[in-house]
Formats: sequence, structure tokens, C-alpha cells
Amino acid sequence: MIDLHVHSAVSDGTDPPERIPELAAAAGCSAVALTDHDTLAGLDAARQRADEVGVALVRGCEVSCAFSGTSTHVLVYFIDDEEGALHEELARLRQDRVRRNRRLAELLASLGIPITYEEAVAAAATEDSLGRPHFAGLLVAKGAAESIPDAFDRWLAHGRPAFVAKARVHPAEIARAARASGGVCVLAHPFTLELTPDELDHAVGELADAGFGGIEAYYANYRLDQRRALAELAARHDLVATGGSDYHGTVKPGLAVGTGRGDLLVGDEVLERLAARRP
Ligand code: AMP
Ligand code: ZN
Ligand code: FE
Ligand code: FE
Repeated sequence: MIDLHVHSAVSDGTDPPERIPELAAAAGCSAVALTDHDTLAGLDAARQRADEVGVALVRGCEVSCAFSGTSTHVLVYFIDDEEGALHEELARLRQDRVRRNRRLAELLASLGIPITYEEAVAAAATEDSLGRPHFAGLLVAKGAAESIPDAFDRWLAHGRPAFVAKARVHPAEIARAARASGGVCVLAHPFTLELTPDELDHAVGELADAGFGGIEAYYANYRLDQRRALAELAARHDLVATGGSDYHGTVKPGLAVGTGRGDLLVGDEVLERLAARRP
């Protein structure tokens, strides 16, 4: 069993990156991918611990993209170099995240919520890993929301008073950059695109043409029938049906590394098939 979608505190999860391989080993995983948002900063620490606990670490990240007018996430795996087009793209996204977060803090202040930018940064591991989930936690702590989802519904989600857009790249651009860095792209949680089945089929075909290696079918928050439909969609386009928990630690309760909500089981062969798509 493996897990190809996990976050650490290097982005908006709550566990230090070295804890991820420990959780994977304890769950019985042979491999785990660390896929923090727009950053590779946790990979070295995770790799070291993975070696110690006997789990294979897949070097990954989850990139903020825009596709057919909607925000979407692209998972990139097997990134093998230290610089190059993908790294430049990620640096640009992190820079824009800092700009967005400063603006978000200003906006909250103007809405009468006493959260400073510095306070928000202190809630994250580093300035460029600060994300909306950290702001959501502060909104709850200050009594401006009842829970993390409520903080998004009231303030932070698209169309809400404190929403500020972030820079996003086109998936085809990421595919090109990823391939130059030895990586393979996978469309994360495809239903966030909110397309009809026909539209999704067309979109996935476009991504396959752009050089994608797979789509995330076995996603912990999807029902079994949804996972099956996505696996069939992947097969139709000769893409690998991948999967993972999207574990974030305590900010997304109820999800475990490897087993998701208890009914997730992504087989080792998925990683072999995905590795076969490396450029
Ligand atoms: P950011 O990249 O800083 O804009 O934050 C995006 C992250 O916020 C996503 O990866 C989710 O983990 C989380 N998120 C987005 N929308 C919601 C929502 N409606 N409820 C709870 N968490 C959300
Ligand atoms: Zn996240
Ligand atoms: Fe995601
Ligand atoms: Fe994720």
C-alpha cells in the first residue's frame, strides 16, 4: 500500500515533514509522497527519516493551477533536480502567495478583525508557507468563526469578503516544466473542477495531450463509485489512476496517512505504473 498525496507543516499541514514517513510506516505503506503546496522544502528532512523507517519517499509537490477558469491542483512527482523551470515556477508562486497573504491580512483588518500579518506568519512554518487554513485557525481563535470550514464560508472562500486571488499557472505549463525536471504530473481531486462528465472527459484528454501521467482517482474524500468512475476515465485516456489521502494533520480531521477515512487502499503497482511515465 502507498499514499501519493500528503501535506506537512512546510505548507498547510500540521506535522513536521519528518513525521510523514513515520505515519506512513505505521500505517503499513511501502511508499509515501510528500506533496506540499508549491514547495519542495520538506523533502530532504522527509527523505532522511524515510530511509530510517524503511519507507520509500516520493519527491512531490502540489501546484496551484488554473484550468478552464477554475482553480485546480496538479501533483508533480519524481522531481529530481535542484533547479530548473519547475523550481522557478514554484518560486514565483510562493512570491505571489506572500503578496496575497499581506493583502488578505490588510483586508481582514479593514473588516474589523484584529489579525496582523506578523501574527499569521507566526502560525505557519515559514512566511511563504502561510496559507488560508492558517488564517482560518486564527479567525476561529479570535471568535470570528466557529470552525475552519465556517471561517472559509464566512470570510476566506471565493466570493467571500476576505477572498484574494493568488497567481495560478496553466497545467500544460506545469507539465512542460515538470518534464524538464524529470517529473510526472497528475490531476489532483478532479471533481474540484466541477465539470459535467463530458466536460471532465474532454479536460482530461487535454491534460493527457499536454503530457500528464495520471489523474487522482482513489482520493480519500471520494465515494467508492466516484473513485471507480475516475479510474475508468483514466483508463480511457491511457493515464495512471493514482490515489492518496490528502492528509493535512489536525486541520483536516478524520483523515489518516495511507488509509484515508479507513477505506483507502492504493496498491504498490500504482507507483510502478507512474514511475514508468517518467520522461
Ligand atoms: P491557499 O493555497 O492558501 O489559498 O489555501 C488553500 C487550501 O485551503 C486548500 O488546499 C484547502 O486545504 C483549504 N481550503 C480551501 N477551501 C476550503 C474550504 N471551503 N473549507 C476548508 N478548507 C478549504
Ligand atoms: Zn493543503
Ligand atoms: Fe489539493
Ligand atoms: Fe492536497
